[in-house]
Amino acid sequence: MPTIQLDRLVKRYGNVEVLHGINLDMDDNEFTVFVGPSGCGKSTTLRMIAGLEDVSDGEIYVDGKPVSHLEPKDRDLAMVFQDYALYPHMNVARNMSFALRLAKRPADEIDRKVRDVAEILGLTDYLHRRPGELSGGQRQRVAMGRAMVRDTGIFLLDEPLSNLDAKLRARMRTELAEMRARINKNFIYVTHDQVEAMTLGDRIVVMSGGHIQQQGSPEELFTNPVNQFVAGFIGSPAMNFLDGDLVEENGVLIVQGDGYSLPMPAESAARIGKVAGRRAVRLGMRPSSVFADPAVGAPIELEIVVAEYLGAQSVLVTRCGQTEVLVEVPSTARLQAGTSHRFGVRTEEIMIFDGQSGHRL
Ligand code: ADP
Ligand code: MG
Repeated sequence: MPTIQLDRLVKRYGNVEVLHGINLDMDDNEFTVFVGPSGCGKSTTLRMIAGLEDVSDGEIYVDGKPVSHLEPKDRDLAMVFQDYALYPHMNVARNMSFALRLAKRPADEIDRKVRDVAEILGLTDYLHRRPGELSGGQRQRVAMGRAMVRDTGIFLLDEPLSNLDAKLRARMRTELAEMRARINKNFIYVTHDQVEAMTLGDRIVVMSGGHIQQQGSPEELFTNPVNQFVAGFIGSPAMNFLDGDLVEENGVLIVQGDGYSLPMPAESAARIGKVAGRRAVRLGMRPSSVFADPAVGAPIELEIVVAEYLGAQSVLVTRCGQTEVLVEVPSTARLQAGTSHRFGVRTEEIMIFDGQSGHRL
């Protein structure tokens, strides 16, 4: 399997720079996910790797060799687009074998590859159907199969599930995760959906505004985000942010703001260091770090505005001063909207960000 390296990759459209020097090393046999809000440059990066867009500056290396001067067909890759189109008059087998027939591969080889890939994708029984006789999910799989039969080392996918409804999306996500365990290829997968990124990626690259904000394993990004953007983007329901100040009282570091005051555990205090006077910060607190039982951690009084029952869990929309705070609790906690409740915050899980730059302290 090839390794892929992006070296200070820049993209300009006319005078407008949309990618500002992307550096990335992708390992062998790795599933890399680019995730970020719409317009942050995910597709542009992918299309440059595929050779569908010129590189304005920097270089792309595959197995250590520069490839940006190569035609798409001379790069060892296959791509599945957001708006895949199948040939409506061809059956599944012919749709999947199209590129191989174009390349004039021997018939027995084509037949074998189509059967192998159909097996992996669960399409064996559908090879003679036309796209019109398939469900949305099956058509999606045919589009994937069409790329997979080409036997390339790198597999690029640009939001392949975005045209599916929520339920099918969730199923395809699971299928993809399962399928990927059986295929030894480099995947680069683009999505704006952080759940998709978290479930599929070995490595997640979080982008915003044409920059890489952070890259790492799903767990690294969740537990150790470098800034407020990543902290707010990864995790569902999203992290709560409250304006506040850091102050030191009798050697204890305290973060306090409108309606709350929480002592920082010694470990975080040591990392943040001495605070002279007050320092404006933003407190980051995940909905899962707040507990109905105040004894779990430091107490915080929250006014419950709405209780959304989701089955085993309930999401409480609460208010702390003027700020909305989401709290995730087991539904057995039976907390009522319209009441105030003393919750417990696991302070070792809260994060402090610089009030100006958003960098994590
Ligand atoms: P994403 O896939 O993350 O939603 P894109 O990579 O498609 O974002 O776009 C990144 C930025 O580049 C956007 O601001 C977009 O408007 C701009 N852009 C993309 N394609 C073109 C183009 N052909 N001409 C000018 N600007 C473009
Ligand atoms: Mg895109």
